[in-house]
Amino acid sequence: MKCGLEIHVQLETESKLFCSCPTNYQDAQVNTNICPVCLNQPGAKPYPINEKAINNALMIALMLNCKIDANLIYFMRKHYNYPDLPSGYQKTSIPIGYEGDLNGIRIREIHMEEDPGQFKPDRGIVDFNRSGIPLVEIVTEPDMHSPEEARTFLRELIRVLKYSEGARGEGTMRADVNVSLEGGKRAEIKNVNSIKGAYKALKFEIIRQKNLIKRGIEIKQETRAFLESQMITVAMRSKEDTDDYRLILDPDLPPIKVANEEIENIEEIMPEAPHNKIKRFVKEYGIDEETAKILTSELELANVYEKVVKSINSEFAAMWMRDELKRVLSYNKLDFVESEIRDKDLIQLFSMLQNKEITTKAGQRIIEHMPKNKKSPSEIAEKLGLTGIVKEDEIINAVKQAIDENPEAVEDYNQGKKASMNFLVGQVMKITRGKADPSETVNILNSLLKE
Ligand code: ZN
Ligand code: MN
Repeated sequence: MKCGLEIHVQLETESKLFCSCPTNYQDAQVNTNICPVCLNQPGAKPYPINEKAINNALMIALMLNCKIDANLIYFMRKHYNYPDLPSGYQKTSIPIGYEGDLNGIRIREIHMEEDPGQFKPDRGIVDFNRSGIPLVEIVTEPDMHSPEEARTFLRELIRVLKYSEGARGEGTMRADVNVSLEGGKRAEIKNVNSIKGAYKALKFEIIRQKNLIKRGIEIKQETRAFLESQMITVAMRSKEDTDDYRLILDPDLPPIKVANEEIENIEEIMPEAPHNKIKRFVKEYGIDEETAKILTSELELANVYEKVVKSINSEFAAMWMRDELKRVLSYNKLDFVESEIRDKDLIQLFSMLQNKEITTKAGQRIIEHMPKNKKSPSEIAEKLGLTGIVKEDEIINAVKQAIDENPEAVEDYNQGKKASMNFLVGQVMKITRGKADPSETVNILNSLLKE
């Protein structure tokens, strides 16, 4: 299988690409964020292009390691006929970046275009609030070879876009999925609007094409639609060629010159892309790649890690954040930002652990109470009675008590049932309220049970 993607995502701007209408189309009443320009009325002259949109698109191209050839950016008219586009053409730029790469998948090119309106046949309306919102279209080479690979790529791409803060998320994504099997012609599946949808569409399309090949039927080059509700694709039209779009230069839009200093400026302020951040974490903090991937899975989490390691051993902090913090977050179904856990509290918890003021077990219990909690770890420890590591003689007393109270477990242990040891350790933990050091407890239990 060979799969290439064309991914459209809205750019993050306050106003539209060629007019000053706002871009908050989701909360607005139908057809209220509109003017003659974004209604694509014949003769309406576009305003000068939104500079924020260009800068965001250039930044995304740079974060995807694209070459930039920004001396002049032209806009073309791409013609097609559909109720969401009264002018009959979409304003679309020539590539602003090309020959990029994201984790081994080649990016063929990136360009900008305007979003059309939303045709809602079921309600008999076209809502133009979305019309004219700037989009970036990212076109890959056919470098993906399974639905899983395409899914991984899309997840990673959405992550880069989120990091860039220059584009909106998966919610505004529309992907065209090109797929062909060895020797067959290419089918293009239009308007897939989620990562899961792309995965399901590919799964379906592979089976459909395989069945046709088996029956000796030729696979036509065609455009297909993805029906989200049924997770299947259906024929739409036989594929148009680029010629059918009759691309011409838009005479209303003068070419835009982007100065080299402008590009350098963007390079300076742009955020580090996650795939580059992973490499740096491995090198700078001496952690393995898998851990670095987990820590950079969320920008906020990565930022907090970098604050924490200013005062905490980087490997120790990485281990705790990867294992315990992530466990607590996924148990509570929260991402890091939603958990409202503060960096200073993580630093306090980790230094309590490093200074052996609390046991590992106590640390695990404290961190479970940290999401959405205004109290600091030391206050939580106080409240749960987890402060201080119990001294050796206290453990000895607790072990004696556990042995006295559980003669059957002791008997079992003497009969060779090793599992009884775990039970007795558990009892000691209960008596000391989790404050006994587990390995010390095992040692003391061993020596007292022998007597
Ligand atoms: Zn407008
Ligand atoms: Mn497009």
